[in-house]
Amino acid sequence: MRVILLGAPGAGKGTQSKRLVEKYGIPQVSTGDILRAALKNETSLGLKAKSFMDKGELVPDEVVIGIIEERLAENDCQKGFILDGFPRTVTQADALESVLQDMAQSIETVISMNVEQQELIERLSGRRICSNCGQGYHVKFNAPCKNGICDKCGDNLYQRDDDRENTIKERLKVYDNQTSPLINYYNDKGLLSVIDGSGKEEDISDRINSIITGTAA
Ligand code: AMP
Repeated sequence: MRVILLGAPGAGKGTQSKRLVEKYGIPQVSTGDILRAALKNETSLGLKAKSFMDKGELVPDEVVIGIIEERLAENDCQKGFILDGFPRTVTQADALESVLQDMAQSIETVISMNVEQQELIERLSGRRICSNCGQGYHVKFNAPCKNGICDKCGDNLYQRDDDRENTIKERLKVYDNQTSPLINYYNDKGLLSVIDGSGKEEDISDRINSIITGTAA
């Protein structure tokens, strides 16, 4: 199963990817997570990406394409994967197609998660993440029992630097300008399904699963 989850920042791609990982036992491949790990470890990749990420801009195509090429070649991706946050430009989508072609593979389905802009802003600005286990919270919609502390492992929660208001606005603009053309791109290839990405997490998950089941049938 090779799936792309498409959607603006805050649309719930990460949350739904994690559910798919549990259900289907295939890895989530998130370029954002890979870049944040590189940043944390102060690798040369992290240093290269930092200024773009801080401003809410896209990291250059050749950098993320290189990351994906390496990641998809790993063993755990051979039986499938969920792409979360990649591709984000038409150049990346073209590169993905040729990487997969070389592996005699292709994308089976692209699911675009639709959420109103106001809701995206509210979701992103209240988002908090556990610095140890990565569990996600929201100050209003999914608050931890103890303020700032992870229910699962007791570690501290943090707010992503790019989840602050000015950067959120820039990221949404970047999505509209550079990433949303992928909706037509994949529609033209007959791969696209659009779902309503608002409402309960389980309901959204049901919508995604029914598309995946339909694709597999
Ligand atoms: P995300 O966690 O997917 O919201 O990504 C966080 C940030 O990482 C983005 O705002 C970009 O700066 C960078 N990034 C992640 N994925 C990509 C990508 N496919 N292309 C370019 N930049 C990316």
